[in-house]
Amino acid sequence: NSSLHELDPDVAAAVDAELHRQQSTLEMIASENFAPVAVMEAQGSVLTNKYAEGYPGRRYYGGCEHVDVVEQIAIDRVKALFGAEAANVQPHSGAQANAAAMFALLSPGDTILGLNLAHGGHLTHGMKINFSGKLYNVVPYHVDAETGLVDMDEVERLAKEHRPKLVIAGWSAYPRQLDFAAFRRIADEVGAYLMVDMAHFAGLVAAGLHPSPVPHAHVVTTTTHKTLGGPRGGVILSTAELAKKINSAVFPGQQGGPLEHVVAAKAVAFKIAAGEEFKERQQRTLEGARLLAERLTQPDVAKAGVAVLSGGTDVHLVLVDLRDSELDGRQAEDRLHEIGITVNRNAIPNDPRPPMVTSGLRIGTPALATRGFTADDFREVADIIAAALQPSYEAEALKARVTALADKHPLYPDLKK
Ligand code: PLP
Repeated sequence: NSSLHELDPDVAAAVDAELHRQQSTLEMIASENFAPVAVMEAQGSVLTNKYAEGYPGRRYYGGCEHVDVVEQIAIDRVKALFGAEAANVQPHSGAQANAAAMFALLSPGDTILGLNLAHGGHLTHGMKINFSGKLYNVVPYHVDAETGLVDMDEVERLAKEHRPKLVIAGWSAYPRQLDFAAFRRIADEVGAYLMVDMAHFAGLVAAGLHPSPVPHAHVVTTTTHKTLGGPRGGVILSTAELAKKINSAVFPGQQGGPLEHVVAAKAVAFKIAAGEEFKERQQRTLEGARLLAERLTQPDVAKAGVAVLSGGTDVHLVLVDLRDSELDGRQAEDRLHEIGITVNRNAIPNDPRPPMVTSGLRIGTPALATRGFTADDFREVADIIAAALQPSYEAEALKARVTALADKHPLYPDLKK
């Protein structure tokens, strides 16, 4: 019954150091967020001890009466949150959710149409050495080189030419909204299923600040830890008609026992996401990204060869184009790291540099919005980033401004040792 600190000081020290890192720096990785303490409490609960293969009321293990309650609450809440007919809350992650959804809808060798990884798609949308690229015949679509927007004419042309069984809409790095109705029309024209992977923008959808894919798609997958702000995990929403297929693809198709402690944490996150405070937070998330894009398109930044892909953003992230900058993606990421801002370098469409270097940055605002950042705070962050991407910059002064913002919005104050 020893505490973590008593039993394993090595791991405890690393966890403490990570808490300090999160508290003292500005987290701007677009796929990250800070889970509320109540979510972490559920995730750290005794539910981790329980085997519960199967689904509520139909388990392969005894003693599931309480986890049944938890899982049913999670299912009911996420269905209500997104207006979906059916939900599976068991996928361990977003990648698992996608794997299970594809397993339900496809057979090996079937053709899928997905956004190319270098153009903002995800690994699971057909990358060569991912399961999706190995099991299925992948036809990638792209963004237009001029506008930076998904080329719907190409999507339609490729769909007609290759007649995929599944069209995937969704992205990991794209600053605009997709036209789900147009995707569905194209999918219908060729008799394909439409799957929307809303992992990145699910929180915006939950808040009613982004069009919902649910009325248009046969299946919608998501993670629960990005804009949605919950524990790491995945969810699959579907029509009632597909529910049985999806459930059996998750278990026993892909997974064994569900992580009921994580399912409990998802349930808590869905409750939070249905509230007014969450909506207000998503509004600040969008406002922050918009202010950042606005600042990074000012003349002083343009003069340093820094641009914003598609010229702005409709979502929680900005994609910075460094093709004309003297900094490559890795150098820019390192420079921001040096002053206490965490982002990730990101390949941009038609990137002239290799994937480990890249010519882009992906910068997101969800975590800072969760921390309580206001429009004024986001203006200050944007100004700091604009200064750091100039040919010459004053690291110490910028770092002090970062620290002032971190101090202004304490993170997990009660978790301090
Ligand atoms: N789908 C999209 C669009 C993503 O961006 C990601 C993660 O970045 C995933 C799926 C995979 O989620 P996970 O990392 O939980 O497997």
